[in-house]
Amino acid sequence: MKTLREIGEFGLLAHLGVDNGKLPQGWLGPGDDCALIPIGDETLAITADILIEGVHFRLATTSAADLGYKALAASLSDLASMGATPLASTLSIALPFSTDIGWVEDFYSGIKCCADEYRCHLVGGDTSSGDKIFINITALGKLNGENAPLRSGAAAGEDLWVSGTPGESRGGLLLLEGGVESKTPALKTLIKRHTRPTPRVDLGAALAKGHLATSMIDISDGITKDAAHIARRSGVSVEISIDLLPLSAPLMEGAAKLGVKEPRLLVLAGGEDYELLFTANTKHREEVLSLGKLLGVELTRIGRATLKDDKHAVKVTNGVGDIIDLALDGFEHFK
Ligand SMILES: [Mg+2]
Repeated sequence: MKTLREIGEFGLLAHLGVDNGKLPQGWLGPGDDCALIPIGDETLAITADILIEGVHFRLATTSAADLGYKALAASLSDLASMGATPLASTLSIALPFSTDIGWVEDFYSGIKCCADEYRCHLVGGDTSSGDKIFINITALGKLNGENAPLRSGAAAGEDLWVSGTPGESRGGLLLLEGGVESKTPALKTLIKRHTRPTPRVDLGAALAKGHLATSMIDISDGITKDAAHIARRSGVSVEISIDLLPLSAPLMEGAAKLGVKEPRLLVLAGGEDYELLFTANTKHREEVLSLGKLLGVELTRIGRATLKDDKHAVKVTNGVGDIIDLALDGFEHFK
């Protein structure tokens, strides 16, 4: 008998035979940020997420309202990465009997705030008692399915782009977890980036509609990990140049306050950024930049897709092209 510990989360899906094989023509199943179901001229995008107390969040570092906001924002980010526009969501929640009703009201107000901001109507769900707080959000969006940039669409030679300023969320989390006094505007920004992330809904839809993004994913686990999903699904490798990474002033101030010597590590491996990572043809550089300007979102070219290199799905290189092994030498090469 095998346990989940032995085969892992992705191993479980493979074990159960969850794949696209038996779906109707034109449907997209597991493997991307959303499933896609064509209905008439439009396509429905569907994504589901679970958040469990103690696993995905700690009550000590999360307010109820922030948790509600972020739970929905994370799902809207999955819709964004498929180029889908939010339509509706459902919320199912299990709560211990000891839960303060005020906490639940605040949580709900946080979700409502995000739902109103992104015009994503809450249309139902379920409630139950449970040992811990357990939250499931299912979000639905719509798009023209032919436009959806999948993880599998990258080709060697294309540019790799990222939106916003990844790493700030991790900076905020470290400030919160360390109980660091965060009164300056910069440090407050980092905390807000962690507690109230901005799903790039308009950007995702525009990149998809304009056929600018050939592949796209939202950054939930950090740039390098999420870039690896694009690399594997597209049959390419991805090269990220450390010198091209965007470093924001708040991140630099936060890193100094936290004693983090290499803020670029936060940018690459931070997680929970809910920014978009995408590939685009090199001939579209100007168009991508003007789209960013139009929408007021910083877009940075941080690398490229290359022919598949069996040793590295994702390579991080320094200024002279040497590969930096993040895990082994923690950036020793360019210190
Ligand atoms: Mg995602």
